[in-house]
Amino acid sequence: MLLDLKNIKYTDNLSFIRKYRCIFKNLEHISCPLCQTNNFEHLFSIEYLNFVRCNTCGLVYINPCPSAEDLLKVYSRGLKEWTTVEAYIHRKIDLFKDYLTKVEVVKGKGRILDLGCSIGLFLKLARDRGWETYGADVSYEDVEYAKRNYNLNVFKGTIQDANYPNGFFDVITMWDLIEHISAPIPCLKEVKRILKKKGILFILTGSVESRQAKQKGVYWPFFGGGTHLIFYSPQTIKKILDIVGLKVIKLTTYRKSQGLSKNVFGYGFPKVVMNFIGSPSKVLGLMKKTIRDNLLVSNLRPEIGSSMLVTAKRKE
Ligand SMILES: [Zn+2]
Repeated sequence: MLLDLKNIKYTDNLSFIRKYRCIFKNLEHISCPLCQTNNFEHLFSIEYLNFVRCNTCGLVYINPCPSAEDLLKVYSRGLKEWTTVEAYIHRKIDLFKDYLTKVEVVKGKGRILDLGCSIGLFLKLARDRGWETYGADVSYEDVEYAKRNYNLNVFKGTIQDANYPNGFFDVITMWDLIEHISAPIPCLKEVKRILKKKGILFILTGSVESRQAKQKGVYWPFFGGGTHLIFYSPQTIKKILDIVGLKVIKLTTYRKSQGLSKNVFGYGFPKVVMNFIGSPSKVLGLMKKTIRDNLLVSNLRPEIGSSMLVTAKRKE
């Protein structure tokens, strides 16, 4: 399927793809980042990006792919590339508290590394709750912000550059990161090396097999990230983790923007009451939708939610 771009009403996401055209000068033909074969089918194109599916393992990815050098030019710009610090904190703080609670249900407390930690907001919340925190990010400005404003221990560079000791971390988190990594296997091998024997890895990414992705097709917002390079499914994320010696222990999908706390209680209880008095049907509708989303979207029905939370441990 090739899109007739003249008839598309561009979303903000597509504007990122257009914006990066002048930076992504070197598009390189690549082997499948999961199984390394060169047997793929073309799914569709958005502007200059071709989305393909590997005929061997099923991975959906961009091919040809922007060069690592060009990608770094965008990634090194960090947060300011797409939002302000204030807007980021406002948007993420409740989500990160929710993620941290999910981590603590599995692993209590200990030494945690957040990869792609940006300004360190998640790590700050974790430290406030008793974790020993480490971070890594390729953006100089974001890393400086994390050090200056939160006094965090954050490395500027990739996980391979950081050279952490063997078996060092109880938990490693990758929130909305793995889809940006063009060569995920070396990164995940390093994750495995620095995880403790009983350590846990958490990955959050989009699910290309989700109901939303299938319904929206080429219009699925996740395809339009501009620097989203690989689109995992429950099957392909399990395969890639298996290759590096990690085993999925839980895979849950959900719709992250529709959390109960954010939609209803995030506004504060008095406001919920006022809203209820003013417009009970609106509040009840919101609660019903939220409860439905949160109850239906689970590890029993991985095809539903477009966000996929993967929990994995070392095989040995
Ligand atoms: Zn493949």
